[in-house]
Amino acid sequence: MKEITTSAIIYRIYKYSDRSAVAMAFSPEFGKFKLFMPRAYSSKSGFMTFIPGTVTFQMKDNSDLHKFISFAHEPSYYPYTQTPDIIMRLHLLFDFFDHLYAVGQGCKVFWQLCLKFDEGNYRKVLLYSIYRLLIDSGVNFHLACSRCGADSGDMTLIGGELFCTKCGRHDKRAIAISGGALERLQTFADNDKFRETEFDRDEELELLAIFNSHIDSVLGKAGVLKSYNVFMEVV
Ligand SMILES: [Zn+2]
Repeated sequence: MKEITTSAIIYRIYKYSDRSAVAMAFSPEFGKFKLFMPRAYSSKSGFMTFIPGTVTFQMKDNSDLHKFISFAHEPSYYPYTQTPDIIMRLHLLFDFFDHLYAVGQGCKVFWQLCLKFDEGNYRKVLLYSIYRLLIDSGVNFHLACSRCGADSGDMTLIGGELFCTKCGRHDKRAIAISGGALERLQTFADNDKFRETEFDRDEELELLAIFNSHIDSVLGKAGVLKSYNVFMEVV
């Protein structure tokens, strides 16, 4: 068993017994990983999730569940937990992450994006981060009609393929994508345009609804992302 210290975010803690817990973590070095915390509930204040920092743990060779030793939060990210607009979005973002990645997977770009949230950019960073997660995990969709190649106007997304209004067909799984939403999705692949693009609340919610329905369609069940419903209720 070797002891490892590395950058990480602990994004979820499951109570395991009166005192112990299992934590879900993400690090640029190890991707998604699990930690057993023998004394998670010994301090009264609880553990602050979503704040980037440095974790120390014992890596088990014969198990996915490694033993937590300590975590040092990076104080410059304390504003994350004090800003509801950011913490709500991190909950949602890591729900996407958790469903799209297996243990041992995760990308460095996602780590960099997790460090970028501030009070002025949280909508933009959230949407771009989800877009990158979809690409990196291989479940993104091509942003043009899969029949005729049209790349503007209203579309429907069916089974991970986009169809324009001429080529589309009736399908109960169809996810509507307005011409405006398509245009904003396309800016994600264009650095210059993306830098100038701002997302207001309605635009953010429209894209989140598309991403959420897409995840349900990819994973073949409805309501996969529990934090999406919570987010929609409070945003
Ligand atoms: Zn078409």
